[in-house]
Amino acid sequence: MTNLILFGPPGSGKGTQAAKMIEKYGLVHISTGDLFRYEMGNDTPLGQQAKAYMAKGELVPDSVTIGMLKNKVESHPDSKGFIFDGFPRTINQAQALDALLAEKNASINALIALQVDDEEIVQRIKKRGATSGRPDDNDETIIRNRIQVYKNETTPVFDYYDRQGKSHSINGIGGIDEIFGLITQVIDSI
Ligand code: AMP
Repeated sequence: MTNLILFGPPGSGKGTQAAKMIEKYGLVHISTGDLFRYEMGNDTPLGQQAKAYMAKGELVPDSVTIGMLKNKVESHPDSKGFIFDGFPRTINQAQALDALLAEKNASINALIALQVDDEEIVQRIKKRGATSGRPDDNDETIIRNRIQVYKNETTPVFDYYDRQGKSHSINGIGGIDEIFGLITQVIDSI
């Protein structure tokens, strides 16, 4: 199995790059943000639990998020690997993911972090907000809170995998194909 974490702040291009990675590598893409939006759209109990946190740009509690992620992974027993996008966002989530993969005699092969500075992120997300219809993309205070939450709660996940020699940083500013080229270089080297 090849299991990759696509890492980076909100608006760093993870979704765009994940779409290209699925095509090239045939891995299953799991975006916890997309899963939460799907649940919210269907007004399920899970969606209702996530709603208030997402609206504020806060993390949904680990207990809820980890359970949802596990179900999604288990629903693809024959996958040759996964691209985790927007997960793990806490050390607790990273440990749960490692334990889940270990049950399958697998592990994370690489974490690929897209680096984009704060002001570029704010501009990109505002632009995306015009078409995404996401309330959390249309309020600068919420956008800045998401960036802060990323810095405080999520960047330790980079260090966690860095200690295992698995974290790779790449420049997330540039053309889509140029950035994809950097991602494929990392994947092809593991
Ligand atoms: P995203 O689409 O990845 O930007 O996620 C949108 C929102 O969904 C985040 O601001 C969080 O409220 C929630 N969310 C997505 N993934 C996670 C996660 N791994 N842990 C906690 N909350 C998450």
